[in-house]
Amino acid sequence: MAERLVVSLRRWALEFAGRGWPVYPLRPGAKRPDWHRKDRCPQTGRCAGGHVTPEQMSSTDPELIERAWEATPWNIALFPGPAGMLGIDCDQPKPGQTGAGDPDGWTQLQRLANERGGPLPDTFTVTTPSGGRHLLYTVPPGCLLRSTVKHIASNVDTRGWGGYLVGAGSLRPDGAYELLDDTNPAPLPGWLVQANVEHASTAISAPREQAVAAPSAYVAKALQGETDRVRREPPGRRNKVLSTAAYALGQLVGAGLLDEHQARTDLQAAVAAWGDTASLGKDHGVIETSLRAGAANPRRITPRGHRAA
Ligand SMILES: [Zn+2]
Repeated sequence: MAERLVVSLRRWALEFAGRGWPVYPLRPGAKRPDWHRKDRCPQTGRCAGGHVTPEQMSSTDPELIERAWEATPWNIALFPGPAGMLGIDCDQPKPGQTGAGDPDGWTQLQRLANERGGPLPDTFTVTTPSGGRHLLYTVPPGCLLRSTVKHIASNVDTRGWGGYLVGAGSLRPDGAYELLDDTNPAPLPGWLVQANVEHASTAISAPREQAVAAPSAYVAKALQGETDRVRREPPGRRNKVLSTAAYALGQLVGAGLLDEHQARTDLQAAVAAWGDTASLGKDHGVIETSLRAGAANPRRITPRGHRAA
């Protein structure tokens, strides 16, 4: 039985690698990589020169994969980023978490497609033990999409660079990851590229270091862009847009690139333009909280060509 499982998982790993999708072992029966986290890095062996991630070690080399899956029923991590894809992870609502009272991720994704008038083409799809589904789409060349958490919708995550999906064939105590549709991954629809980028630019997954030609111009543009977005936002999602903008500007404040007083007054001016005096107190509270949260997670900007080590 155990041996049959090893053979089956090895076959799946080789199948993915054959499609050009890098894989890496996950603990048997689990979805955790067989590797240490960055904050527990021993800085020895493969990490002697700095922490190496499973994504960096993932491979499509059949010999390596044969050897790795020779005797152990490792589950399989698929890395959409290096494979030129984006994974859409539609989850079931989880009690006690954001999205608990919302529809499941797949329903949310279909509704979003409807709202945005965009297609949701059939594509390579896997069902998860908890009743979720993973969709894989190819990403336009040169378009670098990062992972997002609960940003496209409360029960939809995306897995791009820095993220992975548990591959079909993998097992957990509560069930298996099963292939639902083996269609070759379709191109990611434009509206989904947009949805991922809109959020990723300010989400927790945003790059913490970015090389730009002129830092001061970059900061000025960010201040203008974020406050414009707040000012123009119609009622409905204002709270979310305001907190996202204040968080992003807070990251620049935390990095010492933007004056905190200026960020606050420009955000307050943008909010004043809504003309909703009843919610001013609450809005100012959102600005304070989000500025502070962003400042605690500073975004480092380095002049292009002088990227810090
Ligand atoms: Zn390490």
